[in-house]
Amino acid sequence: MEKVDSTSKKNEKVTIFASFLRKLSKFELPLICYYATGQPFSNTSENKIQFGWSSFMNVVNQLTSRTPDNLRGFYGTKADFGSLIEYALIKRTPQPKSLDSYFGQNESKELTIEDVNEHLAKIASFKGKGSQKAKKNQLIHLLKYASPLEAKYIARIITSDTRTGFREGLLLDAIAEAFKHHNKGVRYAYMVLSDIGDVAQVARDQSVDLLSLKPRIFHPLRSMLATKAESIDDALENYKSLVCEPKIDGFRAQLHIGKNRCKLYSRNLEDVTHAFPEIIDSISSDLRSRLTPGILDGEVVALLDGKPVFFQDLSTRILRKRDIAISVESTPCYYYVFDILLHQGKSLLDIQLEKRKEILYFSIPDLKNIIKMEHKILENKVDIQNQLQEAIQNGSEGLMLKDPISKYQAGKRGKGWLKLKVTLPTLDLVIVGAEWGHGRRTGWLSNYHLAARDRNDYCVIGKTFKGLKDEEFVQLTEHLQELELSKEPYGISVQPKIVVEVEFDNIQESSKYTSGMALRFARITRIRNDKDLEDVDSIETVRQLFQDQLQRQKRTDKA
Ligand code: AMP
Repeated sequence: MEKVDSTSKKNEKVTIFASFLRKLSKFELPLICYYATGQPFSNTSENKIQFGWSSFMNVVNQLTSRTPDNLRGFYGTKADFGSLIEYALIKRTPQPKSLDSYFGQNESKELTIEDVNEHLAKIASFKGKGSQKAKKNQLIHLLKYASPLEAKYIARIITSDTRTGFREGLLLDAIAEAFKHHNKGVRYAYMVLSDIGDVAQVARDQSVDLLSLKPRIFHPLRSMLATKAESIDDALENYKSLVCEPKIDGFRAQLHIGKNRCKLYSRNLEDVTHAFPEIIDSISSDLRSRLTPGILDGEVVALLDGKPVFFQDLSTRILRKRDIAISVESTPCYYYVFDILLHQGKSLLDIQLEKRKEILYFSIPDLKNIIKMEHKILENKVDIQNQLQEAIQNGSEGLMLKDPISKYQAGKRGKGWLKLKVTLPTLDLVIVGAEWGHGRRTGWLSNYHLAARDRNDYCVIGKTFKGLKDEEFVQLTEHLQELELSKEPYGISVQPKIVVEVEFDNIQESSKYTSGMALRFARITRIRNDKDLEDVDSIETVRQLFQDQLQRQKRTDKA
């Protein structure tokens, strides 16, 4: 990775990595693909490292006897655990000959990819009480065999830092170059398989035609995503007609239906089957016989007394923070299906949306908690406008407008799907805290804590790093450091002075902030140097907007 980092030319990076990939064994190849993209395991693996910031600091502290203040100071300037541990190990005085000697061990052991994998799996395997301590010990055990440079990359893998120098796109190019495939084939394989390690394996096996791969049941695909449309005119500019569906605010999920079992996966490919038994129980033998093996795409929505409940409430089920049986009784969930990717074992990814819809409607009978999402194909602005009004009245966020002839592009945010949302008015908020950025934003204070006015105080209602240009980050970093009140584990708290205009998608109930509310998808539209504290919106204004939003959702019941 150091070699890859040493050149800024993409082609050279790809060639260096391609020749490295060719040298790897069958066992090492997928692992290196995960590590190169900053993942300890495959993105579909159930293994999770779950290693906290303070635990990591603690490990570095134990390994190097550097004070937490010294480490925090260094971390503050780089915000990268990899560089932190490398720095801490290199700068240790007196410099030991090797880490082994530091630990008073005589054995001299070279660290292999297999060792790293074994240790990482072990770290992930500790669960429950005492697990943080066991994880820490295991990491120390791993790092004692590592050079400072190796430790740097191990730290980045453990903290899932994407700064390992290689983005997915470049890695796919390297796989293509290493095993003499067209980029198109490798990218298609990635779309279908979702797992970059699996892609490398099939690419290496020259007997496989990558373009003929199809989705595999119980291997979730990344979701197709939508681009924002500014207006109906904007949406109609490129299309004669559009498939219009309500954009409901729930939880994206992929339902895999096999002969004997079914699984539901979240947008980040996590198995969430346990959280929605009412949806799984709805799967009838009729559905199975029409579909199996099949993969559906849709949105899980919870209804409480007939009203939609926000996404965060669904996540309490997923995180098992709620008794699921009780929640099923009180807040049943429904799966609204809007797409089909695999039908009776046949891939539908390359079939046009209109045709996929036909297959979908024919395949899904009426079921209790699985519902086919309604859609209309519309051509003119007035009809779409009416549809949008109706969707909003029924508690949706807006409309999804889809190109009828688009193919399913897993993991892509293209122009095939457009989202048209009705945004709320913007708020003027003040920055009261900021976090040091990661990745591209390293060295900048970039995640801003946004507060509304609450009489003589300020009440945080959200955080964001979105919306600003690089030069604005630089400017804010300088300005905020001048306003520093105290150092905090997350970064710094600052005097409320800088006012920003903030756009957001909606307001949620939140136990995280004392206001009980949080902005969802907040982004800064402007730094309001022209505004001062008097202009900051009050918490009452935010509460009123929240009430208006709830009113809109309530209309769902009456519709
Ligand atoms: P956003 O999260 O704002 O980028 O909007 C895209 C998300 O809207 C998708 O990932 C789905 O979770 C959700 N969604 C709601 N209704 C639909 C629909 N009819 N078609 C596709 N996605 C939908």
